[in-house]
Amino acid sequence: MDAKKYIYKFSEGNAKMKELLGGKGAGLAEMTSIGLPVPPGFTITTEACNEYYSNKKQFPEGLADSIADHIRDLEKETGKVFGGKDNPLLVSVRSGAVFSMPGMMDTVLNLGLTKETVEGLAHLTDNPRFAYDSYRRFIQMFGGVVLRMEHHEFEDILESWKKKQGVTLDMEMTADSLKNVADEYLKLVQERVGRPFPQDPKEQLFMAVEAVFSSWNNQRAITYRKINKIPDHLGTGVNIQSMVFGNMGNDCGTGVAFTRNPSNGNNELYGEYLLNAQGEDVVAGIRTPHPIADMKEDMPEIYTEFQKICHKLEEHYKDVQDIEFTIERSKLFILQTRSGKRTANAAVKIAHDFVAEGILSKEEAILRVEPDQINQIMHRRIDPDAHVEVLAKGLPASPGAASGKVVFDADQAEKQAADGTKVILVRPETTPDDIHGMVAAQGILTSRGGMTSHAAVVARGMGKPCISGCEEVKISLAAKEFTARGKTVRVGDIITIDGTTGQVSLGEAPMIDPVLTPEFIEILQWADDLRNLGVRANADTPDDARKARELGAAGIGLCRTEHMFFAADRLPVVQEMIMAETVEERRAALGRLLPFQQEDFEGILSAMDGLPVTIRLLDPPLHEFLPNLEELAVEITTLKLQDGNPAKIRELEALQRKARALAEFNPMLGLRGCRLGIIYPEVYRMQIRAILQATVRLLKKGSNPMPEIMIPLVGHEEELRINRDMVLDVVQEIEEETGIHCDYPIGTMIELPRACLVADEIARYADFFSFGTNDLTQTTFGFSRDDAEGKFLHRYVDDKILDNNPFAVLDRKGVGKLVETGVSLGRKQRPELKVGICGEHGGDPNSVEFCHLVGLDYVSCSPFRVPIARLAAAHAAINH
Ligand code: PEP
Ligand code: MG
Repeated sequence: MDAKKYIYKFSEGNAKMKELLGGKGAGLAEMTSIGLPVPPGFTITTEACNEYYSNKKQFPEGLADSIADHIRDLEKETGKVFGGKDNPLLVSVRSGAVFSMPGMMDTVLNLGLTKETVEGLAHLTDNPRFAYDSYRRFIQMFGGVVLRMEHHEFEDILESWKKKQGVTLDMEMTADSLKNVADEYLKLVQERVGRPFPQDPKEQLFMAVEAVFSSWNNQRAITYRKINKIPDHLGTGVNIQSMVFGNMGNDCGTGVAFTRNPSNGNNELYGEYLLNAQGEDVVAGIRTPHPIADMKEDMPEIYTEFQKICHKLEEHYKDVQDIEFTIERSKLFILQTRSGKRTANAAVKIAHDFVAEGILSKEEAILRVEPDQINQIMHRRIDPDAHVEVLAKGLPASPGAASGKVVFDADQAEKQAADGTKVILVRPETTPDDIHGMVAAQGILTSRGGMTSHAAVVARGMGKPCISGCEEVKISLAAKEFTARGKTVRVGDIITIDGTTGQVSLGEAPMIDPVLTPEFIEILQWADDLRNLGVRANADTPDDARKARELGAAGIGLCRTEHMFFAADRLPVVQEMIMAETVEERRAALGRLLPFQQEDFEGILSAMDGLPVTIRLLDPPLHEFLPNLEELAVEITTLKLQDGNPAKIRELEALQRKARALAEFNPMLGLRGCRLGIIYPEVYRMQIRAILQATVRLLKKGSNPMPEIMIPLVGHEEELRINRDMVLDVVQEIEEETGIHCDYPIGTMIELPRACLVADEIARYADFFSFGTNDLTQTTFGFSRDDAEGKFLHRYVDDKILDNNPFAVLDRKGVGKLVETGVSLGRKQRPELKVGICGEHGGDPNSVEFCHLVGLDYVSCSPFRVPIARLAAAHAAINH
């Protein structure tokens, strides 16, 4: 039997082999196959990595020999010799997983340099400074990545030699200094590792390959996979590629570029480059690079060639590309290309423009815009009319604005965020080790690095505001403060960052809501044509209703009426109603509430004129409208101690008695929802009357109000029958009083498991169902909605007991099964039954997909999630 093939030359693979070669390896192979100038090399498969793990961390059989064979081939192809003194072949060794994990795993550059080859390189390039710089960089990288040594120990040596030479920049160091640095590095390795630095290039290569395999399971890679839901079993490929040098003089350079602007989607080359530098200088943010447009002046021919390549790549991949390139002595090499991470605004503009340019179909374009990402567009920004005290300006690296307390390290960020504090992570630059702090922070501010620095790339991916390269900000990590424009900001002070403009300001700035771009509006219209699910909004005020309508809601799926009872002018009347000793007293108080309610409904129904508005009758237990028992006790005691007003004390004591009488051990399972309508029918009758009187008034004005009356928390069909009869009774009263016919749908929320199981019986009395999946999740899991998320659910998710928080993403297996049962029993009884969902899940893309699959008529979500739901519904329709 032939030995297993663990290695593919770039010329042997293609883009379809991503699983085997990793994204980067498949990309290099594909680029090679379409004729791009790629430095030659080969890829060790992800399978080899997985076998390395299943083989107790030993290379699978035949791998070492095959690596050696391929190096020989590479020698032939490049005319260079691995370990050769005269014309040494140097290689890069890079990780490359199936899904991009930027900066999470390890890379070694300049591998193959030894005491001998470094001399050869110096001679060959006539540039000893470059040779020794490459050598010392290599030892440092190899020391960190392979030998697990501390980065700062190398940095200390480098700094000490800069000092000795009296310079501040790496670039200013002489060949002799760098040679000394390399010698000291070698000594440091011997001291720390207890063996000399390997001087055999093949040994270096085997060790580096093993280190890359191991980096698949380093902490930051594991965290990144968890956040991005990348499976742990995929493994990484290892790409070994002949090195080209961007730091051989001023006809050399290196850079990274996007084929379009990843921040706003404009069709322009976007990126940065450095003359006379190696790739890591750009990515690590150590030197602040120049905008790519400068290359047009510096190297006009190469710029034109690069533009052509970008065009070719976009047409070939049908997507925006993120490209790494190097120029070695006026020859352009493409090192890497991959689909470019972009902000939501850019994703929308690019998808839209690609349709206009004939590269994508409308369906393809819609699928390119991730509903989850749309959260970004729906981000708030700083009110342009607000006065903010600008502290500094940096690069606008990831859009959106955020305020929070300043923290200077990732652990602190994580810790404080866990306690509910909003924080902004401020760092000189970030590294992959800071990833957990970036997850926890509202936004990120770095004093160094460019638009493609680690902080910038990761923040854009997370949809968080980020400002990078903000050099005005002078950070002292030791003192836990930074200064800018003469001001000192200490840890814990509040700042605001605006990642769209790059401005840092002091204090918490007022924010305003986002607006939709014309491109996004058009894509949403394409989505509307393709989707089957309707999208409504949950809104309780005319303002929210207007906002929802503007964002494309086709009505209100849930208008909660309890919020209307809390307004300052109403609460005392509500309390009077609750305190009433007799039905007459209660009716009197309700009579005073009625005009308020009628006005509320008129406002909402007219904001949604011509569209359905589902109004839910009162749902929460009444004690929620009374003062808290503990606060009452304190107030009464204080008044007594001060010999305060006896009448007031009596009044408070009465409230206290009533609050005690109404108190429940499990209020969520207590006297609430439709049970209120049965025990205190006067309350519901008032609400029904207010709805119908508002409707009649609007009808008389010539408007088209479309109310739907919804009874909450029904578990037994009798509960609904009684409440429905009450609605019909009030309808009859109103019709008699006004002579106007009031035939509007009467339906129920389905939010208890029993309701799902007997949905056929319930449907006898319902014109529509609306699944209240918040309560349904609570009652199905037996998780208290008010406690579980704060107390233990995060552990369930962290420990992977649950894949997701079921209050955010609908649990398809359990809650979903109940929903499905409810839909099918309900429609069996009443085929024309309208069915929607109004729990929080109505705006979650995954849950929206589920709603599409079980054939709901509509989802209803908060106004700002309406565009997300419209897009998610189209995705579901296209994908299924
Ligand atoms: C629900 O339970 O899903 C619902 C929408 O109602 P509320 O959140 O008001 O209980
Ligand atoms: Mg509910």
